[in-house]
Amino acid sequence: MEHPTSSPFPIAIIGAGFAGIGTAIRLKQAGIESFTMFERAGEIGGTWRDNTYPGAACDVPSHAYSLSFEQNPRWSHRYSPSEEIQSYLLGLVEKWKLRSHLRLGTAIVGARFDETAGTWTLDTSTGETFTARVVVSGVGGLVDPAYPEIEGIERFEGELFHTARWNHAFDLTGKRVGVIGTGASAVQVVPSIAPKVARLDVFQRTPAWVVPKLDRRYSERAKRAFERFPWLLRASRFVQYALSELFGPMIFLDAPRLSAIGEGMSRRHLHAQVKDPALREKLLPHFQFGCKRILVSDDYWASFERENVELVTEAIDRIVPGGIQTKDGAVHGLDAIVVATGFALGLASAPFPVTGRGGRSLDDAWKDGAVAYKGMTVSGFPNWFILMGPNTGPGHTSVLVYTEAQIAHALQAIYKLMHEGVKFVDVRQDAQDRYNRGIQGRMKYMVWSTGCHPWYLSKDGTNHALYPGFAGEYVLRARHLDPSDYEIAAF
Ligand SMILES: Cc1cc2nc3c(=O)[nH]c(=O)nc-3n(C[C@H](O)[C@H](O)[C@H](O)COP(=O)(O)OP(=O)(O)OC[C@H]3O[C@@H](n4cnc5c(N)ncnc54)[C@H](O)[C@@H]3O)c2cc1C
Repeated sequence: MEHPTSSPFPIAIIGAGFAGIGTAIRLKQAGIESFTMFERAGEIGGTWRDNTYPGAACDVPSHAYSLSFEQNPRWSHRYSPSEEIQSYLLGLVEKWKLRSHLRLGTAIVGARFDETAGTWTLDTSTGETFTARVVVSGVGGLVDPAYPEIEGIERFEGELFHTARWNHAFDLTGKRVGVIGTGASAVQVVPSIAPKVARLDVFQRTPAWVVPKLDRRYSERAKRAFERFPWLLRASRFVQYALSELFGPMIFLDAPRLSAIGEGMSRRHLHAQVKDPALREKLLPHFQFGCKRILVSDDYWASFERENVELVTEAIDRIVPGGIQTKDGAVHGLDAIVVATGFALGLASAPFPVTGRGGRSLDDAWKDGAVAYKGMTVSGFPNWFILMGPNTGPGHTSVLVYTEAQIAHALQAIYKLMHEGVKFVDVRQDAQDRYNRGIQGRMKYMVWSTGCHPWYLSKDGTNHALYPGFAGEYVLRARHLDPSDYEIAAF
């Protein structure tokens, strides 16, 4: 069934997380109402709808990890919990009256470009089609949980769930629990559940560098001050952002002297939290600071000082009906297993079949790895703007800094299309190639290339996920649309 498109300039936004909601607000602010938001889940929120595990919170300070055009003076903590971030997003949907634009429970499952009409036809999971002049794809990069391939996983007789699919109906109190994985979600969940469970076995494959989070609650007085003096909130945001950029080179550059500063900070944190030298040795990474994601926590390492928490460094052999068996033959009896192994990297491939000019598929365009001009547009796929696309992930600061620049870029294209009689804008292949040669050329100076095999590298070792540089530099490059880099087709 063809979905009736009454608007002369229909815009489709795919996904209603931070990126989709931010785009919708920017469109509204520009007086554009002709957009529809498609969200496959039953509610908005993306990351913050799905990650409700105990301890879930942002690890970039809330004043910086929020939209610059919708700052919130009332964050409860320096790093606010997941449910508060979700409430913030829900509040924005109400404030900007986005509900009427939302199609919840509707996934986009395919898209085709019609070069003659200058339109995209989108297929939905509900069997409808929708025609749009512009598509803004905000499908997220960390959406689909990754489950480990462990023999016997389906035969486990206790409860098993992923951190991003937390089973709130299952009470962990007094239970024997195993956590598989020691990444960003694990460092939040372990200290949160340790005090209530009978036993907690944490299965570690690779230790990570952890730095103090220095989290704290904002007093009522501080919140009132942020409300009364918006410049104070803006200043706090700026300071948080500036600090993250200042520390950036220590996190993303292959500069052993800078890495040594970060490693020293992390080692001191470990010493302060863990008394036993043998345990400290097991928790200490043996790769350069920044090569894998730096974790922030005030209490993760200290959890291992508890009597009921054990660090298991022996590799997992299999899952048996009653628990986890490690390679040394030991069976760790468990009532529940929490899978904290992160997400399938969504940045690296087409989220669904996308067919551009000349019938070319996005999968074919990306067969040697996902590339996009400024991480946003792909030659041959006109009027299609990707938010959080290839090489736009940060390791050191808020994702939203990048997302906002991408939204600004898409909006400039939308103005052109709406007001200058333009049928489509399609990034030129040479501009895209030039941009990506520059990005990949910088990778050799980045710490991710120092051999620790982070999860975001492709099989051939190339990095199509992270941006090799400062966020501010990316923003300066990306927020303006340079018409000379685009083929601009008139009707
Ligand atoms: C636990 C966790 C903590 C994080 N903490 C931070 C942090 O502190 N700082 C930071 O900068 N970043 C953090 N991130 C990264 C985070 O993903 C981004 O900051 C941000 O939330 C991404 O927003 P998004 O809208 O781009 O994607 P998402 O929030 O992932 O939203 C994408 C939405 O698109 C929907 N969707 C996907 N495919 C389709 C489809 N085909 N059709 C329709 N809808 C679709 C999904 O259901 C989802 O709702 C964290 C991520 C996780 C998982």
